[in-house]
Amino acid sequence: MMTQTFDLTGKVAVVSGGTRGIGQGIALGLAEAGADIVLLQRSEDTSTQEKILSLGVRCEIIQCDLMNLDEVKQAIPKAIEAMGSVDILVNNAGIQRRSPAVDFSEQDWDDVLNVNLKAVWILCQQAGRHMVEKKRGKIINIASLVSFQGGLYVPAYASAKGAVGQLTKALANEWSSQGVNVNAIVPGYIATEMNTALINDPVRSRQIIERIPAGRWGNPEDFKGPAVFLASDASDYVHGHLLAVDGGWLGR
Ligand code: NDP
Repeated sequence: MMTQTFDLTGKVAVVSGGTRGIGQGIALGLAEAGADIVLLQRSEDTSTQEKILSLGVRCEIIQCDLMNLDEVKQAIPKAIEAMGSVDILVNNAGIQRRSPAVDFSEQDWDDVLNVNLKAVWILCQQAGRHMVEKKRGKIINIASLVSFQGGLYVPAYASAKGAVGQLTKALANEWSSQGVNVNAIVPGYIATEMNTALINDPVRSRQIIERIPAGRWGNPEDFKGPAVFLASDASDYVHGHLLAVDGGWLGR
């Protein structure tokens, strides 16, 4: 039955940055498909946890500031201890710093590379060891349109997201024969806090919408289906793929 192919009942999914935005949409989508959820988040905010628990699945918060690499290294072991296993990892949390390259600070460079790339690598490696051992697992990284393009005034972010795309393929090459799928989702322009400045700029917002074939900004709910697909048996032969969820932007 195809509905069973997409069913995540009994699976444990770790999602970073599920407090809001795309991560919250993905966590809710996986939970609606039946998965138990571990939220890796730095705050004590329980609003996503409460929404997930109301769906009748388990949900634990593991506090982890992805800027703190010692905390990052403890996250997957803690999740396995709390839930018994980790079947799905979604590396969603990310930060943005904007500045012309000539003024870009070393601190901003390090912060963006640590959260958007090094923490992703550590979580992939730790979850991957566990998944390779049990010969089953699904890793979904959140890349970006600037995994393909350079962007403007976002040199650290573009560098990190380009690398996330390459890391996804590199890990897929090693682990696809071990029953572990590593793929990425490429969000287009999504109406979240990360883009508040763009959304509030009427000229830029209109220019962006005109460039999107679907004619609208994306929203967190748009990520539920793609995430469930990449987390489920439906994607068992999909490896190292960067799946654009962008209203058609890349194809234009
Ligand atoms: P938001 O800014 O809305 O949410 C970011 C999430 O990351 C929050 O949950 C935030 O937690 C968490 N986070 C940030 N820093 C840390 C940290 N140090 N430790 C733990 N958690 C942290 O972003 P989006 O939902 O828009 O973005 C989600 C992902 O999608 C990111 O990787 C982003 O780069 C990517 N993306 C987004 C696009 C868009 O158009 N919005 C386009 C392309 C990619 P807290 O609540 O504690 O701040």
